[in-house]
Amino acid sequence: MDLHTSLERLDQRPYPAYKDLRGREFELDPYTLCVEHVQGDPFAAPSRLRIDLPADLMSLPAALIASSDARRASADFFQRALAAVLVDSPRGTGSGKSGVLEILATGPEVLDRSALQVFKTGAVRIRLSVGLPAAGRRILGRAAVELLVERLPRALDRVFPKPDLEALERHVHCVEDQVALRAQLDHAGLVAFLAEGSMLPRRSGVDSRPLVNAVPLSVPDSLSVTLDAPHAGRLRGMAIRKGVTLIVGGGYHGKSTLLSVVALGVYDHVPGDGRERVVTDANAITVRAEDGRAVRGVDLRPFIGELPLGRRTDLFDTDDASGSTSQAAAIVEALEAGATTLLIDEDTAATNFMIRDARMRALVPPEQEPITPYIDRVRQLWTEREVSSVLVVGGAGDYLDVADQVIQMDAYRPCDVSAEAAAVAKSLPLGGAAPRPPDPWPAACARRPAPSSLDPSKGKHSERVRSVKTRAIEFGREEIDLSLLFQLIDSAQCRSIGDLLLLLSRELVDGERSIPELLDAVEKMIDENGIDSVSERGYGDRARPRRFELAAALNRLRSLRLVASP
Ligand code: ADP
Ligand code: MG
Repeated sequence: MDLHTSLERLDQRPYPAYKDLRGREFELDPYTLCVEHVQGDPFAAPSRLRIDLPADLMSLPAALIASSDARRASADFFQRALAAVLVDSPRGTGSGKSGVLEILATGPEVLDRSALQVFKTGAVRIRLSVGLPAAGRRILGRAAVELLVERLPRALDRVFPKPDLEALERHVHCVEDQVALRAQLDHAGLVAFLAEGSMLPRRSGVDSRPLVNAVPLSVPDSLSVTLDAPHAGRLRGMAIRKGVTLIVGGGYHGKSTLLSVVALGVYDHVPGDGRERVVTDANAITVRAEDGRAVRGVDLRPFIGELPLGRRTDLFDTDDASGSTSQAAAIVEALEAGATTLLIDEDTAATNFMIRDARMRALVPPEQEPITPYIDRVRQLWTEREVSSVLVVGGAGDYLDVADQVIQMDAYRPCDVSAEAAAVAKSLPLGGAAPRPPDPWPAACARRPAPSSLDPSKGKHSERVRSVKTRAIEFGREEIDLSLLFQLIDSAQCRSIGDLLLLLSRELVDGERSIPELLDAVEKMIDENGIDSVSERGYGDRARPRRFELAAALNRLRSLRLVASP
């Protein structure tokens, strides 16, 4: 039976009769439609539709679907185009969510998403939310026909059979350029590249559009580097080099803005965003103090020595970390997950973790101070472990001694003050407060989560996992606080992290695999089987997270326990 007839037959029946549609495929030439989930009543979360477009519908040029990056960019383009059309299309009447027809909203980043996927063959899969129409709790069959048989294909027709190929190509090229530029960073000795003219600031903390009338990024010669983008050609931009980079300058001169743009340069951005030619080492992690968090079996010895009352720091465990121990743990965890660049802003760092000045070193003898401040380790991280640091320091001049490159932000314009900084460091020596040559970096043991410590059950539910925007994940009886993870940018990523924690608890955490091995297994699965493999519920509201944010969620799970090392 076709969709039209099926819907008309449901007219005036009680709402649950919509369940007849579930799992059935209907031809809406050239689209195939399937209702994957039927809402319980008109007021519940909307139903879920899957729409498949055949490979030959658009005959997309091969270059736009050849690589996984091109497919991700093409999908992102279509998702945005369809979202714009759906927003415009008038919603019908009815109770509750009747007539809602939506695709998940996106931020300015181009992520691998389940809402719209383009496959190697050129086939396209779309997932929408739909409010199946009712008056009260009676099905409105005619309104359902209008919604699904008329309005939906009309909206799809505006985007698909004949897409704006030029705009699509621009979108794909923009993303491919970012991928290519990012791939050049390592060889060029860079942590980040920011093309001249980029627009760094956003309108506000809750509005990610570019700030109007912002000062575009200028690049002084001594900071400049030229990279080749496959489509945009040669690009001049600002180099943030590997090693230790300081961002200095007066308050309100754009230091934190620069660092945050560098942090988000691990993602690709859409054309027009202002940051679409800013790329950063994909393994860069923002670390900060986060007092109150739990820490499980982390080897803090690089930063924390003997603690009062003989607490172990080689397997540090706490339910309530301090500012400095939380930041130390964040760094050790980041290295464990594979970070090659650490990003730290003094605004969110623990001062006693970052430095200890001459007077404090004189007052509190080293034997009584358990903390080896970051300043003592930052060079060693680079020279022995090839981990770079980019640090915003407005106040801590001691860092001038350990920097390779110093960038001053002056009224939003970067200047290279490396030479001046070295001269200042020489003329005002630190004497007794100079960074101490640190002990060797201790070799950490592998952390292997214990299977029983990931328990997704709550009450009568054997598995209950939900996410709260990008702020938190409810995992069984626990709530994992993710609100301070700067590079967790999308609630769809957060949902996927919830799914992946569940997957870890079901099958991957076996007491044998270490955390990096677990992260590798998850990444391999998504690489091979796509974003849909993250969640068995094929809802269109998932996006791929980075391994680092997944690791961060696992590390913040208070119930986490480790298997004792042999
Ligand atoms: P700092 O960390 O140096 O104190 P911020 O990076 O927080 O400064 O920036 C201060 C303010 O200046 C912010 O409101 C930010 O949006 C704005 N801002 C940053 N960069 C620019 C720019 N290039 N043009 C205009 N305004 C900017
Ligand atoms: Mg700041």
